[in-house]
Amino acid sequence: MTSMLERPSAVTAPVAPVGRLVDQFELGLDAPICLTWELTYACNLSCVHCLSSSGRRDPRELSTEQCKSIIDELQRMQVFYVNIGGGEPTVRSDFWELVDYATAHQVGVKFSTNGVKIDKKVAARLAASDYVDVQISLDGATAEVNDAVRGPGSFAMAVRALENLSEAGFKDAKISVVVTRHNVSQLDDFKALADKYGATLRITRLRPSGRGADVWDELHPTQAQQRELYNWLVANGEGVLTGDSFFHLSAYGDALPGLNLCGAGRVVCLIDPIGDVYACPFAIHDQFLAGNIVADGGFQQVWQTSELFQELRSPQTGGACSKCNHYDSCRGGCMAAKFFTGLPMDGPDPECVIGNGELALAAAGEIPKSSVDHSRTGQRRTPRAPVPLTLMVRPPAKICDENPLAGMDQT
Ligand code: SF4
Ligand code: SF4
Repeated sequence: MTSMLERPSAVTAPVAPVGRLVDQFELGLDAPICLTWELTYACNLSCVHCLSSSGRRDPRELSTEQCKSIIDELQRMQVFYVNIGGGEPTVRSDFWELVDYATAHQVGVKFSTNGVKIDKKVAARLAASDYVDVQISLDGATAEVNDAVRGPGSFAMAVRALENLSEAGFKDAKISVVVTRHNVSQLDDFKALADKYGATLRITRLRPSGRGADVWDELHPTQAQQRELYNWLVANGEGVLTGDSFFHLSAYGDALPGLNLCGAGRVVCLIDPIGDVYACPFAIHDQFLAGNIVADGGFQQVWQTSELFQELRSPQTGGACSKCNHYDSCRGGCMAAKFFTGLPMDGPDPECVIGNGELALAAAGEIPKSSVDHSRTGQRRTPRAPVPLTLMVRPPAKICDENPLAGMDQT
């Protein structure tokens, strides 16, 4: 497995003196290493655990020219690589134009997709580029498990995209899996699927963010499954990408490879479809909003001067976790996972492997809800309510509920 630095990007000089890499990263860098850019909240699917609560396009979405200005800025900042997601980014009519613009300006692209637009022609085009990487989302190694979470037909769509890429000669696509209670037992099957298509497996943690908050109780792996996952990573993790998202599991024994650090606002951040900059893709909430690219003088300005990011880069105390023997590897876990389960930031992770999270959850306060929600009408549920895990079909209330791409050129 690899660290969060899955694809190294050339970054400018660290602001800290030479020393341990992790210490430098804790203080933040002049440019993010792991920059996620969600181009749109529009999506053809309605996955029950969508971290950005996507579905409908936001009418304030950045224009093509605004997106190109961001790419120009990333080039100047020497951010040589960006993760593009959404929503489903390929439904933007200018998606390929933006990808071409980025690669022509020395900004490599890895984009995440459910596969909807990856037909044979697109696969051939992608196979011809050296600077574009494709990540296909799949949350079950079988249609039954996948479609319960991602919606009917989504498994077939993703597999068709993988077939098209493989046939076109695209090298090393990624299969991206969010680990849930229902697919932990399929890790070997995912690996076999990746091998079949000449792809690399990437597995990441389910966070209680966006619609994920509504289903987290029912979908996040049980404590026994977390142990199973840790053991699997130790035994099979070589060559499996994890985005460094399981560092809280290092408390089980040997540390998993990676930074073992929450990089939010230090080396990680998110640009959302309207130019808002958040500390982490899993922290879309006003509390983690650093600024807006359009209103606050550009991305560099926000990244380097926002009060929130300065605060996140200042020395943190371990709080209740600082006395724990596992603190060096676990560091109290994921900030977003704590926040969206109502736990204090300086307390244990809700999935703390020694059980402190469960105790804290029993005493947790109100669960904060993000004001950013582009779910189509009626699809958010009350957190901790039972989840049928099937897509709900309700009459659309507005045109943009019927068609998430409403108002966009769909040619
Ligand atoms: S908030 Fe969680 S997901 Fe985000 S960078 Fe920190 S540990 Fe990673
Ligand atoms: S108590 Fe805190 S540092 Fe220790 S394992 Fe649990 S979350 Fe990690």
